[in-house]
Amino acid sequence: MLRVTSVTPGSIADELGLTPGTELVSINDRELEDFLDWEFQTADEEFTLVVRQPDGQEIEFEIERELEDAMGVTLEPPRIRRCANRCDFCFVDGNPVGLRDVLFIRDDDYRLSFQYGNFATLTNLKPRDVERIIAYRLSPLYVSVHATDPVTRRYLLRNPLAPDILPQLAHLAEHGIRFHTQIVMSPGVNDGSVLEQSIGDLFEFGPAILSVSVVPVGLTEFSKHHLCREPTAAECQAAIQVIERWGARGRNERGETWVHGADELYLRAGVPLPPAEIYGHFDQVENGVGAVRFLEREIAGAADRLDGWRGKRVGVVTGTSMGALMPAVMAPLAKASGATLDLIVVENTLFGRRVTTAGLLPGTDFAAALAGRADLDLALLPGEAVNDDGLLIDGMPAAELAATVPVPIRFSKTFVDAVDE
Ligand code: SF4
Repeated sequence: MLRVTSVTPGSIADELGLTPGTELVSINDRELEDFLDWEFQTADEEFTLVVRQPDGQEIEFEIERELEDAMGVTLEPPRIRRCANRCDFCFVDGNPVGLRDVLFIRDDDYRLSFQYGNFATLTNLKPRDVERIIAYRLSPLYVSVHATDPVTRRYLLRNPLAPDILPQLAHLAEHGIRFHTQIVMSPGVNDGSVLEQSIGDLFEFGPAILSVSVVPVGLTEFSKHHLCREPTAAECQAAIQVIERWGARGRNERGETWVHGADELYLRAGVPLPPAEIYGHFDQVENGVGAVRFLEREIAGAADRLDGWRGKRVGVVTGTSMGALMPAVMAPLAKASGATLDLIVVENTLFGRRVTTAGLLPGTDFAAALAGRADLDLALLPGEAVNDDGLLIDGMPAAELAATVPVPIRFSKTFVDAVDE
């Protein structure tokens, strides 16, 4: 059952009299299960829609419309598909107690993989899910492969029932589905020869594998350290050698690098980041792959728009991971904007110092870092640290943070987006 949460004024839904609380029952006699059904079944110019209004009245509408006319409804969020695995490195186990309930959900949902690029393992797919992926052409999907060897993968996922991933991908690929994949590297388990085999298998798989990223496992103070650990610099260097060898082969044989290490892998290894050209379309930038080069490119492409900060003092607030890489980004930003930039690197006191990603910094740490900074004209905070509801990871509303600190703040992913506001 699908329920409407809001209706755009003047839209088709508004004209039909749909309101928050209206249930969308069926289209052309097909019951609607989730937002995928809604989006794909309403893709025609003509269809029969049955709704149930909040007062219980069921109404049938014959819809005729131009495709560019949006239906204009926002739907209740779908019930998230739960994960069937228990990875030792799971981020949920690394949460401190007291965070919002939603942060303790282990989601593994092919629908969100298609819609938002969330990585899914596909271990909880039922035959009907596979049918829907194929029927609705949910492509590309973002898939956590981790290892192509089924025994290693089951061990990593702590799921003895996890299906063999390569045949699973092959079946979907036969029907035109494409994949961006990731390997979360857990040292001693899926690095070394296992990483070599996994990348080789994915390369042999062919063009249906659009990209592969290798991300070093990240743990917090609360993770299961007796079961897994983060890779050493030497282990990251060894992984980079494997990745870059396959990347070179990809360029030679396919004209694209195809497999990349996350920026964090290079940082841990103490190896300089590759040049921007190898990242192609930056397919996995949201996964921390090529993020620094992407930022540099954004800044270079918008130098004229950054002029509004000339003569101002701007604080750039980030976590310890990007803090180490940020000077490479800030130099061109300072040149293009004419601003005096002040890098403010913040340690995470909620998850512990080993959590270096800016996106997991809590509001309390931002507040403490900016408490005495009335000298700044503006502070830029990492856009990944605030969710769509305006909440930081510790539940502090961004508006509350803004009211607390003595400097105007903006959340920004690319710096350029902060100028455009
Ligand atoms: S796949 Fe692993 S890391 Fe992801 S939610 Fe499930 S248990 Fe956690």
